[in-house]
Amino acid sequence: HTAEPALAADGLGVRYGSFVALKDVTLRVHANSVHAIIGPNGAGKTTLFHALTGRVRPASGRITLGGRDITRTRDDDRVRLGLARSFQVTSLFATLSVRENLRLAAQGRTPWAALAPWRRVPDRDAALDTADALLARLDLAGVAGRPAGELSHGQQRRLEVGMAMAARPRVILLDEPTSGMGTDDIGAMTDLIRDLGRDHTVLFIEHNMGIVMNISDTVTVMRAGEVLVEGRPAEVRDDPEVRRAYLGNM
Ligand code: ATP
Repeated sequence: HTAEPALAADGLGVRYGSFVALKDVTLRVHANSVHAIIGPNGAGKTTLFHALTGRVRPASGRITLGGRDITRTRDDDRVRLGLARSFQVTSLFATLSVRENLRLAAQGRTPWAALAPWRRVPDRDAALDTADALLARLDLAGVAGRPAGELSHGQQRRLEVGMAMAARPRVILLDEPTSGMGTDDIGAMTDLIRDLGRDHTVLFIEHNMGIVMNISDTVTVMRAGEVLVEGRPAEVRDDPEVRRAYLGNM
């Protein structure tokens, strides 16, 4: 990859008091790719997400989004610059239909999926076109008219991802997108993420190694606040340090 990364961190350090949660973390997330962050409990994955989104302030290092330095940018401004984070289902409008939820997100009417200021806010019809195009990709066309609150857990999680997509962000951050799901919902979510990587940039935290190896273009392995290795799934899987960190659980 020679192109500018969609999202990058360089020498990122985060402390909680005297505890060093991230140390010299460097990350390159390339456009139109699926990039996984893995690592044992306490490795610093969530802290890295917090630093990228602006929830915690790094003690050192630099973060860039599409080449622009956002290290000191407020969290809500990062959203407007195109860094979307998919939250838990509580952020859905439970009484509105699935299609209406997507329509509102496409118009930037949701705080977590705000439109970048240079993008024209689509009118209602254009936003509905976006919503309809997304429904099929999300495998939610059959429930388009149902209130979001009546969907299954797996469907709601896919809708959240779709709402992040609707605002056309530069990068979508997903925190354990398959957690608490059964096999069918995991399959639908992983199909969605793989499909997303064709024209979106996805950075996700995941504990399930099978999923990571299946759908990622790039994997970053963290341990004790540091990056152990970053590479293609096969490279990472065969790395002796990674094998040691996971004690053979791969
Ligand atoms: P998990 O897989 O369990 O979610 P993680 O890789 O996401 O772990 P973090 O949640 O980033 O790891 O935590 C990294 C380390 O920082 C842990 O040792 C944790 O106890 C510590 N930590 C996290 N948040 C705080 C905080 N607000 N204050 C102090 N220490 C914290």
